[in-house]
Amino acid sequence: MKHILSKKNLGKVFCSVAWVGLVLTVACLSGCGLDSPKVLSDVDTAMGTVITQKIYLKKPVKTKKENGDALPTEEILGLVGSLERERISFRIPDAELARINEAFADRDPIAGDEPDVVKLSPQMEEILTRCLEISEASDGAFDITIGSVARLWNVDEWADPPKTDSEAAYPLPSESEIREKLDTSGYEKVTVKDHGIILSPGMSLDLGAVGKGIALDEILQYLKGQENVEGAVISAGGSILTYGTKPDGTAWNVGIVDPMSTDQSLGILTLTGQWCVSTSGDYERYVEVDGVRYHHIIDPETGYPARSRVKSVTVLTRDGFLSDALSTACFILGRDKGMELAEKYGAEALFVDQDGEVAMTEGMRQYFNFAAKEK
Ligand code: ADP
Ligand code: MG
Repeated sequence: MKHILSKKNLGKVFCSVAWVGLVLTVACLSGCGLDSPKVLSDVDTAMGTVITQKIYLKKPVKTKKENGDALPTEEILGLVGSLERERISFRIPDAELARINEAFADRDPIAGDEPDVVKLSPQMEEILTRCLEISEASDGAFDITIGSVARLWNVDEWADPPKTDSEAAYPLPSESEIREKLDTSGYEKVTVKDHGIILSPGMSLDLGAVGKGIALDEILQYLKGQENVEGAVISAGGSILTYGTKPDGTAWNVGIVDPMSTDQSLGILTLTGQWCVSTSGDYERYVEVDGVRYHHIIDPETGYPARSRVKSVTVLTRDGFLSDALSTACFILGRDKGMELAEKYGAEALFVDQDGEVAMTEGMRQYFNFAAKEK
């Protein structure tokens, strides 16, 4: 089965979800007994994205109704839900990230407000430390302090089908508003030490660029603790995890969307064992205003959607956080610098530029095959 890296947003996704759901259900009905399945399939939403799961078991499990335990697919959905609610959402007021932002929202440096330290959970400390490292390595192209600029653009409200409108109907932020928000951002102004964090006043963190990757890492830890799981392929939006083996011994096939024509596949990654694949593209969330496309990946230098000539970039690593962070960073850096960054982390990357030209790291060639072109 091909797993297309489509990050279409919810309107469109629900159509494809219905389709995928149908395919998975048929596969399950034909491949296993319904009462004691050996293959678990599920398509659901969590963390504002579609989570598609296929889990191959060594021994059939009874359904929840029969033995009272939650199925692995349900446990995984629960994990992703709590990750968002308790940790990484900037919207849900009780999430740790939202509380950090809130704590620094109305500090007034002119009035001499002291920047208190906000304590971090061990998990958040690790996430933020890793984010700051990627900022450093990418020369600030990747920067989670971009939150207030991203809110100004309203990227979270952009839904599929993309809005195409005039500026009168879809007002864009002004140069001076962007400047003002940019002045409060910048990863160099963040201090993480002694298990606490200090932000500069008015700064707002956004973990949108790594949320799905972090979710995949949590899912991977969960799967590793499950004796009965032989293999799994799980996608969270456009980030995909492959794990273990398929009972028939064949490889995992992960499709990459053609960004020039997003209902088609550019090609397939053939993978064995544990991998994480993330794609960042200008087609995922955007609006078109007066013929200009504004997408959701912001260049921290300008405060505007990145103009690096990259249309999409796919990153392949063993680690979810890294694949997600690097795909965003590589998109902003562009092909040459992005390729260098990926290689520095031992990751493979595939770039498609505005003309549809494809470039990839040397190592990517052993996994990627172009799709046969339709005549
Ligand atoms: P998606 O969220 O569609 O998977 P990405 O992983 O590329 O796509 O992340 C894009 C999201 O990351 C944006 O919606 C925004 O929340 C955040 N973001 C935008 N620009 C940056 C940036 N330069 N550095 C870090 N995060 C960013
Ligand atoms: Mg990303």
